[in-house]
Amino acid sequence: MCVGPLRKICHWGPLSALGMIKIITLMTIHCSRQWWSPQESVLAAGIFFLFFALSGSALFHFMSAIFEGPGYLTLKWMPEKAADIQYLQYCTVCQGYKAPRSHHCRKCGRCVMKMDHHCPWINTCVGHYNHGHFTAFLASAVGGCCVSTVILISWVMTVLSLKPLSFPPPSVYMLILVIFSIGLSIGVVFAVGMLLYFQILAIVRNRTEIENWILEKARYRRDETDAKFVYPYSNGWRFNVRQVLTWDCSPVGDGISWPVIDGCDQYTLTKEQLAQKLDKRKRARRYRIVKAASGSKFPITHGFSVFCHPPCTDEPRIKLNVGDIVIVTRWKKHWIFGEKMQKGGKDVGSKRIRGWLPRPCAIEVIENVPYNSDNLSKDD
Ligand SMILES: [Zn+2]
Ligand SMILES: [Zn+2]
Repeated sequence: MCVGPLRKICHWGPLSALGMIKIITLMTIHCSRQWWSPQESVLAAGIFFLFFALSGSALFHFMSAIFEGPGYLTLKWMPEKAADIQYLQYCTVCQGYKAPRSHHCRKCGRCVMKMDHHCPWINTCVGHYNHGHFTAFLASAVGGCCVSTVILISWVMTVLSLKPLSFPPPSVYMLILVIFSIGLSIGVVFAVGMLLYFQILAIVRNRTEIENWILEKARYRRDETDAKFVYPYSNGWRFNVRQVLTWDCSPVGDGISWPVIDGCDQYTLTKEQLAQKLDKRKRARRYRIVKAASGSKFPITHGFSVFCHPPCTDEPRIKLNVGDIVIVTRWKKHWIFGEKMQKGGKDVGSKRIRGWLPRPCAIEVIENVPYNSDNLSKDD
């Protein structure tokens, strides 16, 4: 059993990331020590120390991203001016308002300041306070793995060249382990490189992954009108970068109030979010369950099409019984997303049951009276 701070890393994500960092580091140190003796060549020594610095930096920023955390909004948070709550969404779990750029994370169970995404590798969210460390970790990991790939491939080529070796010939197991490390290293360069690219974009635009999505919907909503939505937080790339990438990776600001461009205010984005929620509630339709839904991610009893077209998201699948009523807000060809109507209407603090269900399980209830959207909670 892990206690205290250790609990944060006792999870498959951080443990496997640490395992990979360790394997690649140890293999690279082993091979470069055999292959190059640093005293012989300045270049060899330089490359070796470059790798050492990058590997150390990756470990440091990885740990900092975990222990610093994204920054959680205090429970039951309220804006300073009570009049401002009309511009904010309410979080029923944290029982407080969501500050601008904050979002509730289901995995962390809290509202996260400037939430980007929940990262399983660090077992926490990437948000306001650890955005800089997280990006520095990705950059060090990609840089370190590029260097280690060069060192490890050179070692393997030397071993397989059939020329006399300056070090004892390695065992077959060692050779396999080194080749495995090369695969791991190249994998990291591509996979983590992609993530790094998106993080750099997010920093340069001062726009998180979630805000990208809000902005896309904001533009879509205005397609037919001339009004253009102005994103309030981006003030040129130099300014944007300085907000996150400081020397000690600590961000500028308190994670609650943000510098905005002329013509916008603190609540420009949250007002747009509220308008989007209202649109969504207007589109909401009532469905009745006619066939029980298992809640399984891989339902085999609902037909081939349902099984083969799962929604590409880690949002939950919900278990429902015949006769249940679901308020549906999103539609895919074979799946629908909705919230189960609880008996006794909306109950603040009670756990909401929301998620995907196979489309054949439900039929739409056609009503003469439009669905009363007040029953749907505000932060749907
Ligand atoms: Zn919350
Ligand atoms: Zn989270």
